[in-house]
Amino acid sequence: MPAVTVNHIAVVVENLDTALPFWQTALGLPLGKVEDVPAEQVKVAFLEAGESHVELVQPTTADSGIAKYLAKKGAGLHHLCFEVDDIEAALAAMQAQGVELINDTPKERGGRRYAFVHPKSTGGVLVELYDRRVQP
Ligand code: ZN
Repeated sequence: MPAVTVNHIAVVVENLDTALPFWQTALGLPLGKVEDVPAEQVKVAFLEAGESHVELVQPTTADSGIAKYLAKKGAGLHHLCFEVDDIEAALAAMQAQGVELINDTPKERGGRRYAFVHPKSTGGVLVELYDRRVQP
């Protein structure tokens, strides 16, 4: 049985500067990088929480997917990301069990393959899967 671990927890916020003090100062998570991701029209702050991290995501435009999510649902938990040994095998096993996937085949960003599972099948939370094997 492959080990599945939490890679990150993503939280949508209206504003990183006002959201950060809780996570960084009150909770005490070390702040890693803060980066603009123009492709996704967001700015992301990464905080370290042991082997995992918290990603605070702030939309940078009014019409991105994240901005629409924020407008509709408000700030809060956006998704949980689990790391698996073999993403194809994990997706195939889920499909065999009737789990609804947003991506049937993994996408790739920066050598990292990932896919999303529909909240319908997870009890209401968007779940992201990461393949543990990072490609060069
Ligand atoms: Zn994620």
